[in-house]
Amino acid sequence: MKQFPAFIDLADRRTVILGGGEAALAKARLVIAAGGAPALIWPEIAPATRAGLEGQADLIEATPARADVAGAALVFIAVDDPETAARWAQTAKSEGALVNVVDRPELCDFLTPAIVDRGGLTVAISTGGAGPVFARALREKIEALIPTRADALLDLAARYRNTVKAKIAPAARRRFWETFFRGPVAERALSGDDAGASDLALAAVNGFDTEQQDGVVHIIGAGPGDPELLTLRALRLIQSVDVILYDRLVSDDILNLARRDAERVFVGKAKANHAVPQDEIEARMIAYARAGKTVARLKGGDPFIFGRGGEELDALRAAGVETFVTPGITAATGCAAAAGLPLTHRDEAQAVTFVTGHGKGDADPDLDWPALAALQNTLVVYMGVGKAGAIAARLVEHGREASTPVAVIENGTREDQLIVKGTLGRLGALVADAGVKGPALLVIGEVAARADGAGLLDIAADARRAA
Ligand code: SAH
Repeated sequence: MKQFPAFIDLADRRTVILGGGEAALAKARLVIAAGGAPALIWPEIAPATRAGLEGQADLIEATPARADVAGAALVFIAVDDPETAARWAQTAKSEGALVNVVDRPELCDFLTPAIVDRGGLTVAISTGGAGPVFARALREKIEALIPTRADALLDLAARYRNTVKAKIAPAARRRFWETFFRGPVAERALSGDDAGASDLALAAVNGFDTEQQDGVVHIIGAGPGDPELLTLRALRLIQSVDVILYDRLVSDDILNLARRDAERVFVGKAKANHAVPQDEIEARMIAYARAGKTVARLKGGDPFIFGRGGEELDALRAAGVETFVTPGITAATGCAAAAGLPLTHRDEAQAVTFVTGHGKGDADPDLDWPALAALQNTLVVYMGVGKAGAIAARLVEHGREASTPVAVIENGTREDQLIVKGTLGRLGALVADAGVKGPALLVIGEVAARADGAGLLDIAADARRAA
């Protein structure tokens, strides 16, 4: 964030607008819409401005004086002459006011955002002055997202707020409001049945079960890293759960989407350095759920592809915890597609195989090498960076051509993504030379030559050109 967003109550605050033209009129209207009563002071007030504000603003056709801005909370400067504007900005600031100068972000203490105004519901969008037009385009989209009767629902909530406080213990209130805003009360209010919504709300307050109820766990795939590759459901859940247990592959950009007061628990695993043992992770999730929390178990990629999500689901279900699974884009499909690398291709690969390159302890992965080498299609190795050389040697040993193209995708779909290409025979050297530390995928097969990345050692392409 470039600025601190805040909503200011203007009812008892003095707001001054210096200027008499169209821009001054627009600012005055904004202040009035927010419940303020602005004073508009300038030697010349245009007839249209006067007509637009008659009775709602204090219109003073005179040269302003320092005393006019003294004691004002907000001062808007909407005058044409840049020097006059700058001088008044200085004066108003020295009198302790927060200043907004029209079209001069560098002189502003605060900017006016693009606003969605639906009665009690206000959405303000700022680009920090960089792209007001973009902010307005976003506003249109947000307008379309907000139910037309959102303010009726908020009015109802406001009417019940005190009753809820009196009747429902603080610990259970969030759960009450969750049911209120997501359940039948909201449905009725949003569909225009105010009386029905009110009756239901009353019944809900009176009959609300304050006994602690068990929470739920959502096992969620967070995709390969770019937050835009989250599913809509993953996004909604991340924004609403009480607790998030996440591991190393979940990017900060994604965690930052969580509710501000959500508890974030790192249980990450760096290879061979399990921060929290698996059974401990499961025990913690069960404990949170039994304490009534809604829990997100957030995993990189898809939870069920080399993610131990299956074990967690079993453990949670065995403990009687209600558990839901939200799929994610797994690293192989996400990183490859984002790199322009089709894992299957009509001419080059009729199938794709995902394997893990991680062996027990320091050992090489225990894979069916003859079968993998014989497949002659696309092979994607997860967790294979440390063993890249050994994996390549085994495949070549069992009959895969050393000239087979390979691509290594590190931090795929993230800002620091690195893609290097080469051939199977030199895969170990490719990984070492590029300094790949992971998380990275090894993609082996004809299609790998198609990856967009920097062909650091694009031997495959060279070989084909030579042939
Ligand atoms: N459940 C995850 C995989 C977890 S195993 C999924 O479906 O993607 C961890 C391995 O995934 C890493 O060692 C790496 O091989 C791969 N991986 C995960 N995210 C990646 C990314 N952004 N770029 C490249 N590889 C990634």
